[in-house]
Amino acid sequence: MPSNLRIDPQRLWANLMETAAFGGTAKGGINRQTLTAEDGMVRAWFKREAETLGCRVTVDEVGNVFALRPGRSAGLDPIALGSHLDTQPTGGKFDGNLGVLGALEALRTLVAAGYETNAPFLVVSWTNEEGARFAPAMLGSGVYAGVYRRADADATTDSQGTRFGDALDAIGWRGELKAGAMPLSAYLELHIEQGPILELENKAIGVVTGAQGVRWYEATITGRESHAGTTPMLRRADAFIACAQLALEVQAIALAHKPTAVGTVGRVEVEPNSPNVVPGRVRMTVDLRHHEDAILEDMQKRLHAAIEEIALEDRVDIALKTLHAVAATKFHPDCIAAVRAGAETLGFSHRDIISGAGHDAVHLSKVTPTAMIFVPCKDGLSHNEAESATIEHCAAGAQVLLEAALALDAKLPTR
Ligand SMILES: [Zn+2]
Repeated sequence: MPSNLRIDPQRLWANLMETAAFGGTAKGGINRQTLTAEDGMVRAWFKREAETLGCRVTVDEVGNVFALRPGRSAGLDPIALGSHLDTQPTGGKFDGNLGVLGALEALRTLVAAGYETNAPFLVVSWTNEEGARFAPAMLGSGVYAGVYRRADADATTDSQGTRFGDALDAIGWRGELKAGAMPLSAYLELHIEQGPILELENKAIGVVTGAQGVRWYEATITGRESHAGTTPMLRRADAFIACAQLALEVQAIALAHKPTAVGTVGRVEVEPNSPNVVPGRVRMTVDLRHHEDAILEDMQKRLHAAIEEIALEDRVDIALKTLHAVAATKFHPDCIAAVRAGAETLGFSHRDIISGAGHDAVHLSKVTPTAMIFVPCKDGLSHNEAESATIEHCAAGAQVLLEAALALDAKLPTR
């Protein structure tokens, strides 16, 4: 049986549209990059709304904002719901915003009904999820989870040379609380899918079971530059031909684990890049992703084997360097079950899904039981001003978020 608490779809939608004005663009999107004046405005709005609902709002040392509504039982850590309010330079109205405002709507629903949870109920807005202004992405949640140190966060600079720490101080959102000092009972994050699967399958809710692991490589192929007119085909060491063959191998490696694996060659630099010179050197990236580390390991093995074969066949040297590796994330079975049961009892169509993108929840899952809820977005489009989601899907997501939080809350030991 679902709870008898129902979120208000119109109120949620009104909040999404109201906050979209902070950094709103002519094309209907949002440009609200982290730690800008616009970010300051939406933070102030969020704080005011939460305080109106009777929450205590605290800010930690990297600007993560926590709105806390006390629970009935002493000694329980809060159940946290949230996401981020920063956007890409040409971001949409839903990425991140839906997660924070959906959580705020769940909180409003509890307050309006006078419903007391066992554990404190926490709505969180993480700093710099997007990474558009300051790299890396998911920085605030990363410091919270101990993945990054505060000092490293402070020192990272934007393209103008402004330090993260200075930008945070400048907008007045550096708090006293040490990042990670507030332990949680669980963390749930509602987000648009940012991909096409739910829409294609006509499902309202994605029960997110984990996130893909990622491996980035750079291959440097060294052949021999020579005259395009005078060098016979069989006497060439053409670095670009090797690159093209390797790109096809990357596709084959991903297809060997279809439909879940993906592989991409996204950047290629050819030298000397001249029409009448056989290319002597190519630098190319390879991006491999899967939600099982064992499969990623196999994909890597196949990549090494392909490189050896191509190097021999094309008389080139190929050096492979790992640029970046993130292990696959598995969310917590109890949290996943709570989300699935919420969708089920509320009668929403749903399917299990893996996140192809990074989210704050990936970092949170390292320190607390975590899961995510996806809702469809139009044409799977995100990081785009045309990003769009329906009021029905946003409402379904927020309702499942509340339902899952209540189910987790009911299972906590009380005194
Ligand atoms: Zn996001």
